[in-house]
Amino acid sequence: MNIRIGNGYDIHRLVTGRPLILGGIEIPHSSGLLGHSDADVLTHAIMDALLGALSLGDIGHYFPPTDPQWEGANSLVLLQQVHKLILEKGWQINNIDSVIVAEKPKLKPHILTMRDKLSRTLNLEPDRIGIKATTNEGLDATGKEEGIAAYAVALLIQDKSEE
Ligand code: MG
Repeated sequence: MNIRIGNGYDIHRLVTGRPLILGGIEIPHSSGLLGHSDADVLTHAIMDALLGALSLGDIGHYFPPTDPQWEGANSLVLLQQVHKLILEKGWQINNIDSVIVAEKPKLKPHILTMRDKLSRTLNLEPDRIGIKATTNEGLDATGKEEGIAAYAVALLIQDKSEE
């Protein structure tokens, strides 16, 4: 069995007039994340972790913000494309773990819905997807509600007999 680990990080600015999308679901809040796509920081961090595990670059390489076709893109669709790339290279996801850093809103009531959404998007059992939420105790940009950040790690496996 071959194993590879990858990590990803993302942060987006919070602004009024945008929906807040995290883990593929819309979360009721007075502001949302600014970005070229739907600015789903959690999904973006997970994509970078998956790409990083196989040294495949980062999401900016595959989905450049300068490309109009990704404007307003549903990040779950991008995640599916990254997953396809990994499967084509003969790897599969063993598990993902992640942390969202947000002062507000309270994310705990939405964690299982996010996990379910990502589970179905990746065709991966829910207990292989960790999603945690924390505040930044009022410190720095996330703590001052200027943005929301996410960190993710992913472990990929490859059955040697299939090489
Ligand atoms: Mg991003």
